[in-house]
Amino acid sequence: MNFQFSISNFQKNVPLNNHTTFKIGGPAKYFFAAKTKEDIIQAINWAKKNDLPFFILGGGSNMVVSDKGFNGLVIKIQTTNYKLQAARLHAEAGVLIETLVRETGKLGLSGFEWAGGLPGTLGGAIRGNAGAFGGEIKDNIIEVEALDNKGRIRKFSKKQCRFSYRDSIFKDKNWIILSAIFVFKNGDGEKIKEAAREHINYRKERHPLEYPSAGSVFKNCDLKDVPINIRNFFKDVVKTDPFPVVPAAAIIARAGLKGLRAGGAEVSEKHPNYIVNKDNARAVDVLKLIKMVKKKVKENFGIKLEEEIQLLGFSSNNLLTK
Ligand SMILES: Cc1cc2nc3c(=O)[nH]c(=O)nc-3n(C[C@H](O)[C@H](O)[C@H](O)COP(=O)(O)OP(=O)(O)OC[C@H]3O[C@@H](n4cnc5c(N)ncnc54)[C@H](O)[C@@H]3O)c2cc1C
Repeated sequence: MNFQFSISNFQKNVPLNNHTTFKIGGPAKYFFAAKTKEDIIQAINWAKKNDLPFFILGGGSNMVVSDKGFNGLVIKIQTTNYKLQAARLHAEAGVLIETLVRETGKLGLSGFEWAGGLPGTLGGAIRGNAGAFGGEIKDNIIEVEALDNKGRIRKFSKKQCRFSYRDSIFKDKNWIILSAIFVFKNGDGEKIKEAAREHINYRKERHPLEYPSAGSVFKNCDLKDVPINIRNFFKDVVKTDPFPVVPAAAIIARAGLKGLRAGGAEVSEKHPNYIVNKDNARAVDVLKLIKMVKKKVKENFGIKLEEEIQLLGFSSNNLLTK
């Protein structure tokens, strides 16, 4: 091992359940909280030099981590600088979305209202082009700064980010987001704050926030991918967000899978696209439920559900999609 990049900064055998909103996951062999861009780069270089797999973790709000944990280095992005000036925001990847919703609201800047109640960091949101209530993180982006596989820092215009539904070039290529620039519209501060609050309250009422989870497990289903003979059955729930989709929650509910359990994990009754950690669930329980839901939905409706959540620490034959 090369100890030049102070390995003393790395913690060993850190339980990852404390770093995921699901509260599930075994230990990371090494764990490092990166507070600056240089920290991120150095930690990655260290891992590469030492032939150690590494994983970039944001808020852990979209993750299922294996019960066995991760036999490598987890780099938790904790870069939290941001600057808001003249309707522009320049923020590092580790800034919490919650902070940005609050601070833009205070300044009467419109653009992040949709993200009221969205957990996680800016980097995680950009990678998966997070979205809700008709908005997506891409909407106000001007530029993203990222690290490519060759260790080059590159700037990407919005177009070059190739955003699509829960996808981006950063997800496709496994590139690391360092920071991003956004532009907002000036608006009425009170109205902006109220809109964000409404979304937070909607989530409290409709989503099972009383239990640990990773949010929606599956992507909503593109109406085009729903077999023609079954489309009528879902006619009443089709919504356009960001294009005509059948919500995965409605598909799972109509397959009769609300409340389905495996170990301590359960398909939420309140919002069936959530799997909740009801009673010390393990990752194997969650994976089992995901497989059961996919199988039943395919059998009942011929619909192939696709995961929105990300997996860490599973061997390739445990992986659900691909
Ligand atoms: C209660 C709840 C509600 C949710 N509601 C929504 C919703 O309405 N809409 C929605 O889209 N999502 C939702 N989610 C999912 C989740 O909050 C988002 O996907 C969020 O953007 C993930 O950010 P994160 O920082 O937590 O990422 P993590 O979970 O830490 O990581 C997710 C993926 O992003 C990668 N990643 C993280 N940071 C970086 C970076 N800087 N550079 C490159 N890759 C990175 C990780 O390697 C991983 O593959 C919800 C989750 C919960 C728990």
